[in-house]
Amino acid sequence: MKRKWLWGLIGSLGVSGMLTVFLVFAITAALLGAVVSSDSGYAKEPNQEGEVPTALLSIYFQAEAKYGVPWSLLAALSKVTTGFGQHPGEELDRIGWIPFSHEQWTLYGIDGDNDNRVDPNNPWDAIDTAAHFLSLDDPKNIETSLRRYRDADSFVQEVLHWTKVYQSLIPSSKEWIWPLPGFHDISSGFGRRTDPLTGKQDFHKGIDLPAPIGTPVLAVRDGTVVQVLAERDSGGYGNLIVIQHSGGVTSWYAHLSAAFVTPGTRVHRGEQIGAVGSTGRSTGSHLHLEIRVGGKPVDPLSMVRQPNRSRK
Ligand SMILES: [Zn+2]
Repeated sequence: MKRKWLWGLIGSLGVSGMLTVFLVFAITAALLGAVVSSDSGYAKEPNQEGEVPTALLSIYFQAEAKYGVPWSLLAALSKVTTGFGQHPGEELDRIGWIPFSHEQWTLYGIDGDNDNRVDPNNPWDAIDTAAHFLSLDDPKNIETSLRRYRDADSFVQEVLHWTKVYQSLIPSSKEWIWPLPGFHDISSGFGRRTDPLTGKQDFHKGIDLPAPIGTPVLAVRDGTVVQVLAERDSGGYGNLIVIQHSGGVTSWYAHLSAAFVTPGTRVHRGEQIGAVGSTGRSTGSHLHLEIRVGGKPVDPLSMVRQPNRSRK
């Protein structure tokens, strides 16, 4: 009975119909494969032209806060030594995600993620260990520290080059960072303005930051996610994330295409929480960033410093 039904279906579809069914299956399988493989963890995340994997940013920022070594230097060192873990431990006498000798691991190794072991191939341990090692000299004198890691001119020059590149990408401040790596423009500021949709005067409660759909959105400061709303529930904000920070401060990330956190998630400054979109009341792909103190919107630029826009 079942078999008859199946053959009847094949007969009615014909050869081209069967091909279509097969193609749909193949494409679905390929897409699923891509989604799954892209979720294989930060150690293997591909990076083009030295792009910093966003999953690592909060580790770098925390290492900077703990050891006073610029995050951009730690990222540059990761990039130049192993391409962010793409090819770890290629040198004979050094091992790890940021390579050190066995003796150095014993002396300086740090258990960055508190799992009770120092693992040279764990990015968190490797980044904290490098920060620890580089902080033993004057952390402000980057070149001296680097030469103690490896005294070779070409190596030092390359790391200093990437340090500058990353510094321009997200200059870190003490507590706040810019939410969009590499996109520094503001298309609409805080305060009175002409509403782009109605043409009427209104009050813009945040700042609009144009960026392509899918651009990573980073938490501007450590905090706890208190709201994740879908487009239909947010009254114009589109897909929305709200993070509660200390001091009665909240940050609002609106018009997102995706949210990667849920209410209750603890997030660190620089951690990716979502992706830029154009959901809700929006005329184009951008992030609306709002910061409220005691529930009242304030100019986000009084908290978050806009990086200079020299980078194309
Ligand atoms: Zn806006």
